[in-house]
Amino acid sequence: MRRTIVAIDERRCTGCGLCTLDCPTAALEVRDGYSRLADDRCCNGGGACVAACPTGAIVLAGREARPFAPGRRRD
Ligand code: SF4
Ligand code: SF4
Repeated sequence: MRRTIVAIDERRCTGCGLCTLDCPTAALEVRDGYSRLADDRCCNGGGACVAACPTGAIVLAGREARPFAPGRRRD
């Protein structure tokens, strides 16, 4: 389905991790020096991470993703 979720620009990301702290669903993780969407099902598109990022590396974008299903993340 097409819905609004995050997109992260690695060129702007410093890997500081602030976005991971503000995400209410643990959808983000810092891996290999950059923030990444660990599981698209965990992103509600609310944008708390967008506000938390000091470099403007995160935007919300409409794209293909699985339906929102918090708690499904597997690590
Ligand atoms: S939009 Fe919300 S749920 Fe999605 S990664 Fe950002 S803070 Fe987490
Ligand atoms: S807050 Fe911004 S710069 Fe920091 S890890 Fe997240 S996306 Fe990267």
